Amino acid sequence: MTLIDAADAFVFGYSKLDVMFGRRTLEEVRVPYSAIDKPGVRFVRETVVEIDPPAKRVLTDEGGVYEGDFLVIALGADYDFDATPGLADATEFYSVAGAARLRELLPSFTSGRAMVGVCGAPFKCPPAPSEAALMLHDYLTERGHRDACEITLVIPFGTPVPPSPDTSEALIEAFAERGIHFVPHRRVAAVHASKSVAVLDDGSELPYDLFLGVPKHRAPGVVLESGLAIDGYVPVDSSTLATNVPGVYAIGDVATVGVPKAGVFAEGAAKVVATEILAELRAGPEVEGYGGRGSCYIEFGAGRIGRVDVDFFSGPKPTGTFQTPSVELATEKRDFGAIRRARWFGLS
Ligand SMILES: Cc1cc2nc3c(=O)[nH]c(=O)nc-3n(C[C@H](O)[C@H](O)[C@H](O)COP(=O)(O)OP(=O)(O)OC[C@H]3O[C@@H](n4cnc5c(N)ncnc54)[C@H](O)[C@@H]3O)c2cc1C
Repeated sequence: MTLIDAADAFVFGYSKLDVMFGRRTLEEVRVPYSAIDKPGVRFVRETVVEIDPPAKRVLTDEGGVYEGDFLVIALGADYDFDATPGLADATEFYSVAGAARLRELLPSFTSGRAMVGVCGAPFKCPPAPSEAALMLHDYLTERGHRDACEITLVIPFGTPVPPSPDTSEALIEAFAERGIHFVPHRRVAAVHASKSVAVLDDGSELPYDLFLGVPKHRAPGVVLESGLAIDGYVPVDSSTLATNVPGVYAIGDVATVGVPKAGVFAEGAAKVVATEILAELRAGPEVEGYGGRGSCYIEFGAGRIGRVDVDFFSGPKPTGTFQTPSVELATEKRDFGAIRRARWFGLS
């Protein structure tokens, strides 16, 4: 098996929040791919520049030509800065570099208006902007600046976590308790960084002193050029994760599966595809399809974490069961990360 990635290290999505708020350093959250040591797996650090789906072949920037019996596309979602005028000159926390830059800027924000603003859906980890607002509240409170600051959260959904009314209600209650101004059904359509003003999609203008942006997403260019994408992402059978090209699968944020863009769903889909490929190679029994289930941990601040267990495909509509925030769930989230570091990279 050949695993090709342009990056040299893995970073959990939620670690960007830890980096931004100075809880952990970049070095602490980076897990180098050189740590992968599994029989039969070769890691290649190269950038895929062309995908030929029918041939199940990819070309890389190093002149590599890789061809397989199966091709699993897992290139994630990129950020489309050009889709939001002015965003390239503003600040965002969805990339590692963006979170690291905000970490440097946050200490000088001691008064004024902070905005967590989402530029378009779908976006990774729908609860993350809410978490950023709640964690910013804690950050400012701990430093004695909260009373001098306003926090506004702008998201394109009607509620913070649409599949789970209970989770959304708890978050909205948490915003109200902390004086966080919640603006649903709106997205940031443009940013005038030189004037420090965000323009929402209804034309209203919100001045800010600190902007925590969530860029609009899209599949990487090489995927868009492969002919596999429709409406920006790769459509797949939501049970098998198969594309319409035999032997070619797409998993995670790059695919349209019918589940949110989150690591737990990417992991669940990866397991199904791995089992399907093994079953085909060994002419094994039919594989149980992808269930669209996953648990997301949600930072509520003050060291407490909630959990929502979502199920997208079992019933007529998605459901989400909420577990109230607690310190026990904070421990569970730590274990969640540790288990994956051990399973994927053999690290303690
Ligand atoms: C702030 C934040 C908080 C989050 N919190 C959570 C959370 O609590 N729980 C959760 O489940 N999810 C969370 N997520 C979402 C999660 O990080 C993503 O959904 C998940 O990483 C998607 O996995 P993926 O494998 O599809 O894509 P990625 O993890 O993005 O991996 C794609 C890989 O493809 C590589 N790549 C891209 N293009 C090329 C190319 N041309 N050639 C070679 N390699 C390439 C990239 O280098 C990358 O390593 C969060 C995200 C953010 C931003």
